[in-house]
Amino acid sequence: MRNKIPRVGFVSLGCPKATVDSERILTRLRTEGYLISPNYEDSDLVVVNTCGFIDSAIAESLDAIGEALTENGKVIVTGCLGAKGDVVKQAHPNVLSVTGPQATDEVMEAIHAYLPKLHDPYVDLVPPQGIRLTPKHYAYLKISEGCNHRCTFCIIPSMRGNLVSRPVGDIMQEAQSLVDAGVKELLVISQDTSAYGVDLKYRSGFWKGKFVKSRITELAQTMGELGVWIRLHYVYPYPHVDELIPLMAEGKIVPYLDIPFQHANARILKLMKRPADSEDVLSRIQQWRTICPDLTLRSTFIVGFPGETEQEFEELLDFLKAAQLDRVGAFMYSPVDGAVANSLPNPISPELQQERLARLMALQEKISAQRLAQKVGKTIQVLVDEADKQGAVARSYADAPEIDGLVYIENGQSLKQGNVITVRVTHSDEHDLWAEII
Ligand code: SF4
Repeated sequence: MRNKIPRVGFVSLGCPKATVDSERILTRLRTEGYLISPNYEDSDLVVVNTCGFIDSAIAESLDAIGEALTENGKVIVTGCLGAKGDVVKQAHPNVLSVTGPQATDEVMEAIHAYLPKLHDPYVDLVPPQGIRLTPKHYAYLKISEGCNHRCTFCIIPSMRGNLVSRPVGDIMQEAQSLVDAGVKELLVISQDTSAYGVDLKYRSGFWKGKFVKSRITELAQTMGELGVWIRLHYVYPYPHVDELIPLMAEGKIVPYLDIPFQHANARILKLMKRPADSEDVLSRIQQWRTICPDLTLRSTFIVGFPGETEQEFEELLDFLKAAQLDRVGAFMYSPVDGAVANSLPNPISPELQQERLARLMALQEKISAQRLAQKVGKTIQVLVDEADKQGAVARSYADAPEIDGLVYIENGQSLKQGNVITVRVTHSDEHDLWAEII
């Protein structure tokens, strides 16, 4: 095994977008234990990130590659000039590999092939920055960190602090890179998605020559132009969430709202420090469905919160019957260390919590089965998660990965992961749909 730390020389040409690409590659290199060398002599190989915008930039890039080949000999080329057909290979046939812009993974693959990283048991335990744990066709995109609320059952704000939103341009850059890498669905996440930009006072950022306000409506609208499914998670029920519904009705973002209500009884909601008007919530849901009849609503609820009476719990069941939510996650209250709610009187016994959870889930299963049965016979668009000899497994806009249902396509053997196709629903159960390609 080699024991010399591998050194990479780096030449970065071009515009700020190319600089971001360079930064990504350099970050990966450092994370993996490579050293960045300031000169050709000490480098084991050289990466040249090129520009191909105008003739003079092409000439400059080709000169830089030539210089690196003469001075070092082992050269990997990436960037915009790499995307221009055979220009690089024709001028410099000895380069080791050529890729286009935003190709961090491919560049790292080439570096690994020609200059393997040094084994370091500590560093190798750390996942490389930017690695995705999701399959290639969908990705999570975090738009902010932290939260300004103080829900009494939650300790996230004390661990992660108040809301810190990412600049809108950075988010859009990441979203674009993911789409360029083949992602078909972006799942927007944060602790409090609808609060995006509050800490930035909604100041405008810059994306593709336009000003974009750092506000969830404007961000969702801009993301909607990327041509992939945009799905919003953890949307706190602020009044301005209403503005997102027309974007869903217009097809800009998927008609899916993951909006945690947590409970329906006003006293419990107040004890939780959550917005506490379930009648208002019901009338808003009705309005949302009038504007966007295809809207899928997912919510989460806590049962057995300290002091929850039978009557208050039944109020929650009544709310679910009236709201007819499509997807519901329910959890028994559990006293997380440090949560304010732990000191509330009259904790509910685990047995009673369990019983209430089972009642709630049984009710919701019926509601879910009825709502899914209404889809039988309809045509829907689905995104294929996987396919084999048995058929394909896909999801519709109503199904977020991991947490919602699936669409099984029995005649989907020829499909590929990431395909977006239209199918006809043939039958349903409490959670999933079955469909055929038409
Ligand atoms: S539950 Fe959500 S909104 Fe409430 S404090 Fe925790 S992170 Fe913030």
